[in-house]
Amino acid sequence: MRHFDLVIIGTGSGNSLPDERFADWDIAIVEKGVFGGTCLNVGCIPTKMFVHTADVASAVPDGARLGVDAQLTGVRWTDVRDRIFGRIDPIAEGGRRYRVEDNPNVTVYAGQARFVGPKTLDTGTGEVITADRFVLAAGGRPVVPDVVDLAQVGYHTSDTIMRLDELPRRMVILGSGFVAAEFAHVFSSFGVEVTVVARSDRLLRAEDTDISTRFTELAQQRWDVRLRRKAVRAERVGGLTRLHLEGPDGAEVAEGEVLLVAVGRRPNSDLLDVAATGVTTHPDGRVVVDAHQSTVVDGIWALGDISSPYQLKHVANHEARVVQHNLLHPEAPVAVDHRFVPAAVFSHPQVASVGLTEQQAVDQGVRYVTATQDFAGVAYGWALEDTASFVKLLADPATGHLLGAHIIGPQASTLIQPLIQAMSFGLDARSMARGQYWIHPGLPEAVENALLNLPLD
Ligand SMILES: Cc1cc2nc3c(=O)[nH]c(=O)nc-3n(C[C@H](O)[C@H](O)[C@H](O)COP(=O)(O)OP(=O)(O)OC[C@H]3O[C@@H](n4cnc5c(N)ncnc54)[C@H](O)[C@@H]3O)c2cc1C
Repeated sequence: MRHFDLVIIGTGSGNSLPDERFADWDIAIVEKGVFGGTCLNVGCIPTKMFVHTADVASAVPDGARLGVDAQLTGVRWTDVRDRIFGRIDPIAEGGRRYRVEDNPNVTVYAGQARFVGPKTLDTGTGEVITADRFVLAAGGRPVVPDVVDLAQVGYHTSDTIMRLDELPRRMVILGSGFVAAEFAHVFSSFGVEVTVVARSDRLLRAEDTDISTRFTELAQQRWDVRLRRKAVRAERVGGLTRLHLEGPDGAEVAEGEVLLVAVGRRPNSDLLDVAATGVTTHPDGRVVVDAHQSTVVDGIWALGDISSPYQLKHVANHEARVVQHNLLHPEAPVAVDHRFVPAAVFSHPQVASVGLTEQQAVDQGVRYVTATQDFAGVAYGWALEDTASFVKLLADPATGHLLGAHIIGPQASTLIQPLIQAMSFGLDARSMARGQYWIHPGLPEAVENALLNLPLD
């Protein structure tokens, strides 16, 4: 049995660990799929390349509002798809080749790994290996809900939907989170009639209620949104997938040529059988880690979606840097910083948030004040003829420190960054608003005004 200094399972953020400082370590990397993980191959990066293309397509009919009459004559789906993956696939392959050909101290196993004993791993290639240290970076996978006949009927997940051979006329999207919201924007902008089926009474329900309520209202203008519906059975009839639903008004059907299941993701700890090496998990399957990303087993760390409640690439990357340091400097380990984790939804409109929602502030009994600022109240919002977008802030009235920031509207993912910075570095709202210039007439003036609107003590 071959023994290594370090085994890394998964090549998403895990692949960023070995650099020149590990040159004299004997390392194994085990990967069951394509190199580069979810973000590069089936997550953040391709989705945002599709989203930008969708933004361009949807801007065409939207121009009429401003007096620009233009017609979208078509979206060349296979050209779009091949442009995007023509860029991504070589990067994934280049990453694999780099490890295999240019890293003499790294052995790559192309298999689905599974622990078979303490620090003993079946690589899925016919070889079992052991190591002093392991990093579990095996991510997660889409959850498939319990719907009768779903498996026989067939469905897509985010892993497959971006590689369709042709655009369907109609698509049913089961789910109400960010993956569902982003794909609904992409496909509807490309001319597909989209039906979104949600169990909850709002889309993006993890967001602040004001934000998710506004997002849901806007979504209902673009898509057939079915709220408070439970999918109970699927069937395939004449080239259509029919999803049988139960809702407040009884039984009904949503149908389309294509069904996308986007109801959430679960960690891959079960496939890896982490219990066989003594690693513990939360009830939802996430590997239990401490502030140093160390599991309960000495010498085994975990990072990213397999252990993180956030399921975000910037969090996985941060945790990878922490694990990297702690592997190299076990005598002086560093802790992760999960104080202010931001997230964005790249739908139409965009949504971005950091810190507490108002509901969380109430639940936690935190003393807070809030302020909002509509984009319509600043000059660039007039240019956009915006009627729906806003910034919402929560702050500690005594100190002026921001507790949460929530934005819905164009460029929300960019506009929120100075607020993340203020929270991370302890800048209070008044100093932030008045201690710097705000470019006029830029959209960040909406952030400036929201800061000034806070009724601090
Ligand atoms: C559609 C979609 C859009 C997203 N958009 C964003 C976004 O805009 N911004 C953002 O921050 N996050 C986004 N995310 C989330 C982001 O992709 C993940 O949080 C991030 O990729 C997690 O990285 P990771 O390294 O933990 O796991 P992954 O990148 O999933 O890597 C895990 C790797 O482990 C491999 N593996 C799994 N099990 C085994 C095994 N038993 N043996 C060997 N190999 C194994 C997998 O094949 C995979 O390559 C998105 C996710 C999806 C699905």
